[in-house]
Parts: sequence; C-alpha cells; structure tokens
Amino acid sequence: MIGVADSVTLRQIGILEALAQRGNEIINPFVPEMTEGIKKDQDKRREFINMMRKTFASDVFITGTNAVTVDGNIVNIDRNGNRVAGIIYAAPRVILAVGRNKIVKDVSAAIDRIRNVLAPAHAKQKGYKTPCAEKGKCYDCNSPDRLCNITLILEKKPLSTDISVVLINEDLGLGWDPGWDETRIAGIRDDYYRYSWPF
Ligand code: SF4
Repeated sequence: MIGVADSVTLRQIGILEALAQRGNEIINPFVPEMTEGIKKDQDKRREFINMMRKTFASDVFITGTNAVTVDGNIVNIDRNGNRVAGIIYAAPRVILAVGRNKIVKDVSAAIDRIRNVLAPAHAKQKGYKTPCAEKGKCYDCNSPDRLCNITLILEKKPLSTDISVVLINEDLGLGWDPGWDETRIAGIRDDYYRYSWPF
C-alpha cells in the first residue's frame, strides 16, 4: 500500500498513474473529489482527515519536498503536518521526488525561499487568507490560514525510516530563485497552477 502527501511534482511526473496501472493500492487524499468543499462541509473535512491518517499505515510513503540543501538537509514547512509526519515516521520506506529547482544553498536559504516564494504562490492558489498571498512575501503572520505551522529540517536519516531522495533534472513543483530568468520562473509557476487547485 502506498500513501501520498500533496505534491505537484508527483502529478507532473505521472508516478501515481504508473503505480496504479501496475496494480499498487494507493491512498491519495489529494484529488479534487476528496478536497472539494472541505472548507465548509465538516463531514467531508473529517473524511479527508481520516484518509490522510490512513496514509500513515502505508508500506511506502511518497511525496515531494520544499527544498534540499547543497549540504544535504531536507527542509519542509507544513500547515497540517501530514506531509512532515509522513516523511519522518509513517511508513518504513519513504520516497521523495525532487526537481532540480528545489536545490538551495543552505537551511537559511531554504526557509527564506519557502516563506517568500513558495508560500505566497501556494496560499494564493489555495485561496488562503494570509499576508503572503496578498503581498507576495512573509509577514510571519498569525492568520488562521497560516501555512507555516511546522518546520522540518531533516539532517540525517530517521532511525526507523528509510528515505530515498530521487533528484530529477527538471524544474518540478513550486520553487525558484527570484534572480532566475523570468521565463524559467513563469514556466515553473504556470506548471504549478496547472497541476494544483484551490481546496
Ligand atoms: S508565516 Fe504567514 S505570511 Fe509568512 S509565509 Fe507563512 S503563511 Fe505566509
């Protein structure tokens, strides 16, 4: 059984379809049928949360990641916690699919990029009411919609979890350096919006 946390990268590379075609059972709460209406419909929300919890009982947990540093740290900021919990202690085997655009110099650069590039774009797409969605940079908010509730810096392999990081030589998922060529940034942003939707 394979558990999934939300990841545009996974959708872009088509891995979930490939796994389903070969007969793997996949628990993926992050499909429009599961997320539609969860902000207003409490029954749907409970169903969605229950399905997220089921991903923790999987044999393999797969997702993307916010940033990987040149010196080997994996950095993720999470609102809900299902992704970071899944990465460190859900399944015995974890696979992270990471595009080349997620590589940054160090932890400080990772957090800066997550809060000032990823979070504003993500909040805007999901319809969250945060200052970053409106103004394009982090104000370390106390919004009920705050995305940055949990920061996970994975320095080494967790004791009971094998983690494979699959680096892919393509721009995938959300993340760029503001100094990059505007065409490259626009391509990453457009692909992100194509493969994600408001909750
Ligand atoms: S702390 Fe608030 S303003 Fe800053 S990036 Fe996170 S959600 Fe946006």
